[in-house]
Amino acid sequence: MNGVTDLFDRPIRDLRVSVTDRCNFRCTYCMPKEVFGPGHDFLPRDQLLTFEEIASVTGAFVARGVNKVRITGGEPLLRKGIEELVAMLSAIDGVDDLTMTTNASLLARKAPALAAAGLDRVTVSLDAMDDPTFQAMNDVGFPVGTVLEAIDVAAEAGLGPVKVNAVIKRGVNEHAVVDMASHFKGSGHIVRFIEYMDVGNTNGWRLDDVVPADEMIKMIDQIHPVEALSPNYPGEVANRFRYRDGSGEVGIIASVTKPFCGSCTRARVSAEGMLFTCLFATSGTSLRDAIRSGDEVGRAIDEVWGKRDDRYSEVRSAHTPRIGTPVEMSYIGG
Ligand code: SF4
Repeated sequence: MNGVTDLFDRPIRDLRVSVTDRCNFRCTYCMPKEVFGPGHDFLPRDQLLTFEEIASVTGAFVARGVNKVRITGGEPLLRKGIEELVAMLSAIDGVDDLTMTTNASLLARKAPALAAAGLDRVTVSLDAMDDPTFQAMNDVGFPVGTVLEAIDVAAEAGLGPVKVNAVIKRGVNEHAVVDMASHFKGSGHIVRFIEYMDVGNTNGWRLDDVVPADEMIKMIDQIHPVEALSPNYPGEVANRFRYRDGSGEVGIIASVTKPFCGSCTRARVSAEGMLFTCLFATSGTSLRDAIRSGDEVGRAIDEVWGKRDDRYSEVRSAHTPRIGTPVEMSYIGG
C-alpha cells in the first residue's frame, strides 16, 4: 500500500464518490430551485464516469489507504443500475465500509437489493419531523412519512443502524432539533444535526443563520440529558453524545463553530471524475482524463493529495478570500 499524505501529514482514508449531479429534491440550502430550475444543464451521460471507471478509481484510492467509501450524488439512487456499482465496489479488497447518503425518496424500493449487493449502511437526509417545515426545505412537497417508512425498510434489510442527517438553519427549522432527537431517541438510529454551511455559491449563506453546536446540544440536554462520547475513530466528523438514560446517541457536525480540518482524511470525486480535496474547493483535477487516456490514475492522486493544504473551515471568516467559484454540494456530493 502506498500511503500518500498531504502537507499536514493527513492520509486518505475516506472516499466520497458522487455518481450523479441530479436530484429529485430542491433543498434550499443545497440546490435552490431558482438556480437548479427546469433549464439547468446537468452533466450529460457520456461525461459521467462509467461504473467500471468508478471501480478503477476506487481501487486506486484503496491502494493508497482508503477503507471507507461513501456513494453520494445529487441523489445516488437516481443513477440507473446503482446496485451493480455497489456490487463492484463491495468486491474491492480493502473496502471495509461501503455506505451511501440518500434522501430516501427511492430507498424503500431499493434497500433489499442494495443490501444484497453489498452495501453496509445508509445515511438518510431528513431536516424536520413536520411536513410544513420539511416540505418547505426540500421544496418539492416530499412528505416526512415516506422517509420514515424507508428508514424502517432499510433497517429491516440490514442497512442499519441508520444515520439521519439534518441541516439546521436559524429561523427555519431549529425546532426540529428537539423534535428529531425525541423521535429517534431509543430507536437505535442516530440523528446528527449539521451546522448550516457556506458550501457552494447558491444558498445565500450567512453566519447569522447558523445555529451553533453548543446551542443545539443545550436544547437537547434540557429535555433529554446527554453526555459527550469519544469518537469511534480518528477523523470522525460528528461530535457524539449519549443519552444519560442509555437510550442511544445523537451527533452534531460542527464544521463552522468546531472545525475538524486537522484530522480530515476525505477525498471527493464528482460524477464526471473530478478529484476535490475539500468540500469547499473551488477547483479539482480530472481523473477521467487520466483514465480515458490510459494514464496511471494513482499517480494523479498522489500528485494532487501530496500538495494538499486544505483547511477551509479552520480559516473561514467573513474575510476568507475564495479564489474562484466554490463547487456546489449537489455536484461534489457533500
Ligand atoms: S473544510 Fe475541507 S479540509 Fe476542512 S474538514 Fe471540511 S473538507 Fe476537510
